[in-house]
Amino acid sequence: MPRCKTSRQVHVPATPDNWEELCHGCGECCFEKVISPGGRLVTTKISCRYLDVVSRQCNVYPKRFDTEPTCLKLTPELVSGATWLPESCGYVKWLEEQANHL
Ligand code: SF4
Repeated sequence: MPRCKTSRQVHVPATPDNWEELCHGCGECCFEKVISPGGRLVTTKISCRYLDVVSRQCNVYPKRFDTEPTCLKLTPELVSGATWLPESCGYVKWLEEQANHL
């Protein structure tokens, strides 16, 4: 189970040109999360209805924000505060790399 930190970094870098390529398509962000009685963030097996759970691809990706209003556009700012993203997320790893180069 992925462990999430309480915060990631203070400085948020600008969005790089290859931002979309940082996602490696694991689909982990498309599963519902709950807080356990012990206060731990747990990823459930309940996915967004538009996620193909086998391929881990979004079935409505080009129009996902129109189709699913709760779908979030991930930006460096959002990712820096999104403790529900797994540490293995490509965006999270990129932010950590940027912080290490400050
Ligand atoms: S958790 Fe990160 S790497 Fe995985 S699909 Fe979501 S945005 Fe992409």
